[in-house]
Amino acid sequence: MVSEASSGAVLTIDLAALRANWQSLRDRLKGAECTGVVKADAYGLGLEPVAKTLAGAGCRVFFVAHLDEGVALRAALPKAEIHVLNGLLPGTAAEFAAHRLIPVLNSLGTIDEWRAFCRTRQSALAADIHVDTGMSRLGLPPDEVTALAAEPARLDGMAPGYLMSHLACADEPDHPMNRQQLAAFVAVRRRLPLTRASLANSAGIFLGSDYHFDVARPGIAVYGGNPLPGGPNPMAQVVRLQGKILQVRGVDTPQTVGYGATHRFAGPARIATVAVGYADGFLRSLGNAGCGFVGDIRTPVVGRVSMDLITLDVTSVPEAESRPGCLIDLIGPQNDVDAVAATAATISYEILTGLSRRYHRRYVGGTE
Ligand SMILES: *Cc1c(COP(=O)(O)O)cnc(C)c1O
Repeated sequence: MVSEASSGAVLTIDLAALRANWQSLRDRLKGAECTGVVKADAYGLGLEPVAKTLAGAGCRVFFVAHLDEGVALRAALPKAEIHVLNGLLPGTAAEFAAHRLIPVLNSLGTIDEWRAFCRTRQSALAADIHVDTGMSRLGLPPDEVTALAAEPARLDGMAPGYLMSHLACADEPDHPMNRQQLAAFVAVRRRLPLTRASLANSAGIFLGSDYHFDVARPGIAVYGGNPLPGGPNPMAQVVRLQGKILQVRGVDTPQTVGYGATHRFAGPARIATVAVGYADGFLRSLGNAGCGFVGDIRTPVVGRVSMDLITLDVTSVPEAESRPGCLIDLIGPQNDVDAVAATAATISYEILTGLSRRYHRRYVGGTE
């Protein structure tokens, strides 16, 4: 844990907003199970505090990507149902069983392996079946679905979990791929003997109830990312990132700032050097493009982003609010995570999962 005094930035994570976001998604699902996707350290916000908050709000089913993430989550939540999206790697079945983790089986090969493992344990252990409906990434391809439908006994001896698939274009509601994947998923569901089905991620929930099935898997919307890019964000902001000023200098002669001398001051200016850089996930693409805010005063990033530092133009900020130790909002009320992502030519997911371990983390709005 990095102390506030020694840190280069303060990351505030609002657990009340997180809880409200999850509950609003759950309410939108009208009875379908709302799970929590907490892979990649809960999208960079901290697996344990996030998972415990969601569990407190009523979430009982979680998805992680890696087996090790599942093991860590099991330690935090002894009673939760935990599914591992990346599935079964050779030789890991016993560890799944030891921690009561449910593998998402992505191929016929891993289905056969899990079935054999269940036989040696003489125990019907749960597993999900993930079918590919157009993502071409993980999941049984159509020929394997056909083979499994012809021989459903390959699932005998294991407990049926979810039948699932993943949408490629859910954040583009008018994309024809959504309807195509929905139709393909409905068709697969008729052919395989699993009763509980799951298709929607965050954006998929907003495509309407046809996409909800029995179980939804929201991630980014819970963390405050906009599931409807381009439109107003229905979710509450969860993160605020405040960078700390190390040094302020006045510029009164024509001169440049930073590597490559990419920004030249035309007239008098004040520059604040802030202790955040690309090693902290403040992307280099924000050089001469991103900005911070002091209250509602915009402070443009001038020059390139360095590994551990950025420079911002604070000419229009009162001196009392731009001294060493003062904080500048790098993600905040005026520049939310989607706005920062858009400026950096990326997506909110990459901004959140890149948030530095060097930031002092402050969790607010918790119930304990
Ligand atoms: C990451 C992931 C999700 C969550 O997606 P969001 O867009 O963050 O809501 C759901 N399902 C699968 C298979 C995933 O990999």
